[in-house]
Amino acid sequence: MKKKLFSLTVVGTLVLGGISVGSPTVSAVGNGPEYGGNETVNTSILTTYDEMVDFLEKQEVKQEQMELEVIGQTVKGRDIHLVKYITNPDNPTILYLTQQHGNEQLTTEGTLEFIKHLGTGKTKGILDGVNILIVPMLNADGAMGDVNFSLDDYVASGDRNLTRYNADEVDLNRDHVDRIQPETQALHNNVLSLYDIDYMIDLHHQGAQSERDGELVSGSILYPTTENADPEVVEKSKQLGAVVFNEIDPTGWGHLGKYNGGSAETISRNGIAVEYGISTLLFEMRGMSDHYYESYVLGQKSNGYLIKQTVNTLTASAEAISDGSIEEQDISFWDTLAYQNTRASE
Ligand SMILES: [Zn+2]
Repeated sequence: MKKKLFSLTVVGTLVLGGISVGSPTVSAVGNGPEYGGNETVNTSILTTYDEMVDFLEKQEVKQEQMELEVIGQTVKGRDIHLVKYITNPDNPTILYLTQQHGNEQLTTEGTLEFIKHLGTGKTKGILDGVNILIVPMLNADGAMGDVNFSLDDYVASGDRNLTRYNADEVDLNRDHVDRIQPETQALHNNVLSLYDIDYMIDLHHQGAQSERDGELVSGSILYPTTENADPEVVEKSKQLGAVVFNEIDPTGWGHLGKYNGGSAETISRNGIAVEYGISTLLFEMRGMSDHYYESYVLGQKSNGYLIKQTVNTLTASAEAISDGSIEEQDISFWDTLAYQNTRASE
């Protein structure tokens, strides 16, 4: 099937420039992960790369503590941006990374909203105790569907298709050892090697049909699972995961499983933990913005709670690092948290 997935009427949340508009967010949040997702998938409401850059440049003018930097270019020559909030070099630092996979966009939408909050005082005092680095939309070519391969089989309708791979059809999240691609080079040479980073959350989207304990999940999380990672780094990763789990899972709309991930160090969750001693957390949110597998794609009715899930994740983790409470987290929940499994299709 091409381009046209579902035919039901769209009553989803409107998202413009990463900002949820009006009250529909609340009802979308209320729908939660039990919502099936079978409605039109239209990419036109997603923030484009140019809109994102425009937003970031305006925020930099508005926000005294924010600094915007270009750390490199994509295959197609798009500038890759780093958003910096460095208030005190002695404070711990967290890096948030979105859209290594270009078709996983709601994490970027939520991250832009988080950036806006940092400037409006909604997160007052948070920057006193933590430095925040953000690389949004690392794979901008994939996000814009500006690639050197065919997207004919991709299912979303709208102005553009979005693809996991970069313009040269490479999976950036398998390039963290060789670093052949300009996007991964920019991240390693101009961010990971340059700053003293303690924590990182790598934000992704997974398929739409994963469940835990018989209930569809809003996402899944995992710490570094390579045996080469320092045990202390892994423990701090688990603490970071505890902060996120305790923030999201008790909400009515949040339900998290354990991601079943491998030990390859070509993946950022593992490789970056080993190479830089950074405590990493993978967060896979439910459903992609586009794909050639229909079951991976989730319609826009779910945008509200997934964007909120990102905003809350970023806010809670930055807060816990800022006030030091991250170091008192109980990590024993990891021992009982069930791995998610894929719901059998009807
Ligand atoms: Zn991904």
